[in-house]
Amino acid sequence: MTRRILTASLLLTLGAAAQQSPPSAQPVTARPVSVEPVSSTTPGLAITQRVMRAPVSTDQIIDQIIEREHALITFLSNRKPIVETYLQNLAPDTKLGAVPKEDHYFLGRLDMGESIERRDFLASGASLQKSLMGGMTRLFRIQYQPMGFSWMVFADRQNFDRAHYDLKYVRREFLGEVRCVVFDVKPKTGAGKGMFEGRIWAEDRDFNIVRLNGTYVPRPKNAQFFHMDSWRLNLVTGYWLPAYIYSEEGDFSYGSHDKLAFKAQSRIWGYELIKNNREDELTNLKVDAVNDESAVAQDASPLEAQREWQQQAEDNVVERLQEAGLLAPRGDVDKVLQTVVNNIEITNNIDLPRPVRCRVMLTSPLETFSVGNTIVVSRGLIDTLPDEASLAAVLSHELAHIVLGHNLGSKFAFNDRMLFTDESTYQNFGFKHNPEEEAAADAKALDLLKNSPYSQKLTSAGLYLKQLQARAPVLAALLTAHLGNNFTDNKGQIIRLSVLMNSAPNLDDDKLDQLAALPLGGRVKLDPWEDRVEMIKAAPMAITNVRDKMPFEVTPFFPRLSRLSSAAENGSTASTQSVAEK
Ligand SMILES: [Zn+2]
Repeated sequence: MTRRILTASLLLTLGAAAQQSPPSAQPVTARPVSVEPVSSTTPGLAITQRVMRAPVSTDQIIDQIIEREHALITFLSNRKPIVETYLQNLAPDTKLGAVPKEDHYFLGRLDMGESIERRDFLASGASLQKSLMGGMTRLFRIQYQPMGFSWMVFADRQNFDRAHYDLKYVRREFLGEVRCVVFDVKPKTGAGKGMFEGRIWAEDRDFNIVRLNGTYVPRPKNAQFFHMDSWRLNLVTGYWLPAYIYSEEGDFSYGSHDKLAFKAQSRIWGYELIKNNREDELTNLKVDAVNDESAVAQDASPLEAQREWQQQAEDNVVERLQEAGLLAPRGDVDKVLQTVVNNIEITNNIDLPRPVRCRVMLTSPLETFSVGNTIVVSRGLIDTLPDEASLAAVLSHELAHIVLGHNLGSKFAFNDRMLFTDESTYQNFGFKHNPEEEAAADAKALDLLKNSPYSQKLTSAGLYLKQLQARAPVLAALLTAHLGNNFTDNKGQIIRLSVLMNSAPNLDDDKLDQLAALPLGGRVKLDPWEDRVEMIKAAPMAITNVRDKMPFEVTPFFPRLSRLSSAAENGSTASTQSVAEK
């Protein structure tokens, strides 16, 4: 196999400045113009009588919106997607505006078949964790308490109808490519507690709600509901699926007395993972049983057998992580990572018996780990890295583990060790290395980087670590790795590749061209239906103010909405390909 170094120009989407934009217009997690094909097994329900039902009056539009919302609730009732909420509490900073002062992280499953609890308001005095309840029923156990952000997936699961709500037409408006009708929604007097109040956007073809923005009323005594901006994506024929929810409270303007201030991003994905569908499970088993790819014509030699055995352990883990909804299926982002790894390997004359592969973990906390020859990098880490060289630094540490033979454990070659619930993944898997191996990997990584095409560009990696160091005391949750080693020790000091900080310039907030770390959500876009990830291709936005930098910060979502392409809707060859890839 001949390999060549691919230049950085191939990875243009990793240019730092290209991802920055002010919050008002930030295309965070924007969907592309063309939507990924949905598999032909998708039980999307076509709306067959579109023409007949085309509403002519505002009243008919309202009826249709209500009908489609109920259809969505029914459609999703057997789903248990994953919900991740990452929250940053804020404190005012004279220079930087509102900055994080502590953070919280929640990961769980949302049972869409049960009524979503309505107790997730903030009781004053009670702890944040205790007062935000509801929605998630089965937690990944490392987490303490579920958050209620997830209940704005629907406007009102029980009572979204004319008896409980008044809908008032506002205007037509485009969200991305999708023309919408906009309505203000108010509960009728005495309609009940925990009622939605705010604005909805419904696409103007079938009148599915695509965005909800508002809060719940009436405000309880000594407590408050928080405000949410909830976005849906058209990933299945006929339905718009809840995907992103942004929430924010607090006001630092002069004279305000808000004690509570936070911003939070919730992401929902993994809709396709669990469907209460036995037939599906059997289909999967059949595919697995015929999946023998060994090309050897005779019994393996002892060394070959050893490697085969390790490969089996690696494959088991990767497959299990994907099944649990923690790992994206193979895709284009993997290729970007692999290109960088490849560049390091070639220039260091590394020739491993098995190829190194890269995968993306779907979660926000900053972490990397490797299992066998597979390097895994979290979505949040890729989001915040400023450029290709800093990505190379992160990858070189894991490549060093592989080269040094640190990843040769094979206990996961036994399949019984894969038999645990998805929610207990973090208890059953762990790929942390001991301090000695960490130090050895760092030393080797620096060697690898020195010989790599990135050797002259490592100040960005050093700056990134400096920025991380500066924010580490308030970002404990973002810095808690769940399967790999942390970037910091328990005192918040950077321990990964810390030498790189020595050669980096000082952090300087006032230097607008110094982008040490990016906000979360700026690079990797996640398809909540099939869990696929891709790089966001955003136009360059100029940093005009120190407050535009927002390193490691949560920002609002503004996905560019588009309709599922008609090709995918008709079950085209594209969808067939998507199935075949699996
Ligand atoms: Zn390590």
